Amino acid sequence: MTVQNYINGSFTNPISADWLDNYCPADGTIYGKTPNSSQKDVTLAYKAAANAFPSWSQTTLEHRSRILIKISELLEANLERFAAAESKDSGKPIQLATAVDIPRAASNFRFYGNAITQFASESHDSIGLEAINYTLRQPLGVVSCISPWNLPLYLLTWKIAPAIAAGNCVIAKPSEITPVTAYLLGELCNEAGLPKGVLNIVHGEGATLGKALVTHPNIKAISFTGGTATGATIAQLAAPLFKKVALELGGKNPNIIFADCDYDSMLETTVRSAFSNQGQICLSGSRIFVEASIYETFKTDFIARVQQLHVGPPSQTSTQVGALVSKAHLNKVTQHIEEAKKEHNILHGGYPITLKGYENGYYFCPTIIEVATNTCKLNQEEIFGPVVSIMPFTTETEVIEWANDTPYGLSATLWTNALKRSLRISNQLDCGMVWVNTWMLRDLRTPFGGTKASGLGREGGLEALRFFTDTKNICLKY
Ligand code: NAD
Repeated sequence: MTVQNYINGSFTNPISADWLDNYCPADGTIYGKTPNSSQKDVTLAYKAAANAFPSWSQTTLEHRSRILIKISELLEANLERFAAAESKDSGKPIQLATAVDIPRAASNFRFYGNAITQFASESHDSIGLEAINYTLRQPLGVVSCISPWNLPLYLLTWKIAPAIAAGNCVIAKPSEITPVTAYLLGELCNEAGLPKGVLNIVHGEGATLGKALVTHPNIKAISFTGGTATGATIAQLAAPLFKKVALELGGKNPNIIFADCDYDSMLETTVRSAFSNQGQICLSGSRIFVEASIYETFKTDFIARVQQLHVGPPSQTSTQVGALVSKAHLNKVTQHIEEAKKEHNILHGGYPITLKGYENGYYFCPTIIEVATNTCKLNQEEIFGPVVSIMPFTTETEVIEWANDTPYGLSATLWTNALKRSLRISNQLDCGMVWVNTWMLRDLRTPFGGTKASGLGREGGLEALRFFTDTKNICLKY
C-alpha cells in the first residue's frame, strides 16, 4: 500500500519524492511506503488550509455538525476495513481495533459534531457602569495536530474533530510508524462533504516534518500527543513564536489495590490495564501496589491470569496480546528488561517471543517484575510495553507517597470499597485523572490530561473547544 498526503481534498505524493518504508509488526515485512514529506509539502498544505479558513470559519454550526456526524457514520460503516488496517499497521489485536480504536474514532467525530452545537460563550452585565460585555470564542485559523502510533486514528481524530468543529482548518501529522488509517480517513472526509483544505494530512518524520509544522510562522496552535522528550522540544520551539500548545505526554501510572476491593473485578481489570495493546497505552497501570495482606494471593492469581494471555498474530481474533509496534521499540523494551533482570525478580515473561510462521514479528511476553522500592529505574521510567512491576504496601501514607513519586502525573487507578479512603486518596494523587474501581472508563465530556511531565493543558469535552478558540471580549456602553 502506498500512503499519500491528503492536501486540499486530493491525494498527492511528497514533492521531494522521498519515501519511508512501512513495516508490518506481525511479521516484520515491508508492506508499503509512506511519504517522507518536507517543508515544501507543509507550504502546500498551509496554502490549502489558509484558503479554506475564511469560508469554513463562517460555516454554520449546524452544517459543520452534520459533516462531522457524517464522517462518524462513514467510519462506522467502514469499521471492518479500518480495524483490519489499524491492526496490520500497528500490530494491535484485530479484536481491540474493532472494539476500541475505530469505534472511538467514530465517537470523536460524533461527540464534537454534537458538542459544537452546545458550545456557548459568556456575557457580563457591568451593573452600575451602564455597559455590557460579551465574549466571542473565535477559531484560531490554521492549526496542527500531531499524534503518536499507539492509538493511531483514535488519538488523531480526538484532536482533528474539535479543531474543525470549532471552525479551524487543520494540518494533521500522524505518526510515520502508523500512517495508514489517517490516509484512509481522507477518502471518508471527501465522501462526507468536508470542504477542500479544511483538513490536510501530511506524512513524514517528526524531526523534519513535525518540526516544520511546529515552527511554521502562521500555524497558530500545536496539539501534540507523544513522548515527554518530544513534548519538551515542541514547547521550546513554539514558545518564541507565541503559539498555543497542548501537550499530552508520557505516563507511569500507579494501580493501587486495597484488600477490601472487589477482588475478581480488580484482577480482571488489572490484567487489562497492564497488557491491553501490549502495554502501549499512556494510561496503562504499569506500577502495581498491593496491600500486604493480599499481596501473596494477588501475586499467585495475577501470574496465573497473565500466563493464560494468548500472545498471537494481530489478525487472529483469539489474540489478546499482539505485536509491539516496531523493531526499534521491541529492542528498547528488551533492553529495559535486561537491565531490570540484574536488579529484580522476574515473576513471569521477560523475553521476546518467536511465533511460528511470524518469526520476524515483534512479540514480547507479558512481563511481571517484583520490585522492592519505588525509586528503582523500572518504576521511574516509562517503558511503554508489556511490562508491569508489583510491590506490597502497608500504609495509606506510604502508597500515596510512592504513587506520586515519579516525574509523571497522567492517571492513577485505585481499588477499594472504603468510600472515605477513596475520596481521601483521590484528592492527594498528583495526576490528571483517577479511576476508582475501574480503568479507562471514558466519558468524552471529561477533562483529559496530566500533570508534571505528563503534559500541559487538557483535551476532552469543552476543554478542547476552548483550546482551539480564542476569546475576544467586546464591551458596549449604553
Ligand atoms: P513521539 O514523541 O516519538 O512521536 C509522537 C509524534 O510526534 C509523531 O507523529 C512524531 O513523528 C512526532 N514528532 C517527533 N519529533 C517531533 C518534533 N521534533 N517536532 C514535531 N513532531 C515530532 O511518541 P511516540 O513514540 O509516537 O508515542 C509514544 C509516546 O506517546 C509515549 O510516551 C506515550 O506515553 C505517549 N502518549 C501519550 C498519550 C496521552 O494522552 N498523554 C497518549 C498516547 C501516547
